[in-house]
Amino acid sequence: MTDTDRVRRRLRAERERIAALRDRDVAEHVEQDDQQAGSSELSSLDQHPGDMATETVEREKDQSVLEHVDASLADMDDAIARLDAGTYGLCERGGDHPVGDERLEALPAARYCVTHQAEVEQEQAAARQ
Ligand SMILES: [Zn+2]
Repeated sequence: MTDTDRVRRRLRAERERIAALRDRDVAEHVEQDDQQAGSSELSSLDQHPGDMATETVEREKDQSVLEHVDASLADMDDAIARLDAGTYGLCERGGDHPVGDERLEALPAARYCVTHQAEVEQEQAAARQ
């Protein structure tokens, strides 16, 4: 069976790495926003509409990256909580069968076995439509 201490260390290390990236990213954006707020009144007249559209797309991209990062952090917190609860390694759908050692090796924070992961993704895709 899985060595829980090793998994815990791995999850914590990965979590810290992602949290650091996230903090740096957020800090950079706050700085950029401050600069833009200061300069926008002067430069808005000669700004091309194309530049503004590009900026909007960039912001939406940043937002979705941030959401993805937040989801990863939540997955890792949940995985650590499952380690504490003794349910780590069990598929969250059903809870009576393992996620699979190989899958956990590749994705320590995986919630579902391969079969149920596909099922959950299908349901999420259907819910978005
Ligand atoms: Zn499953």
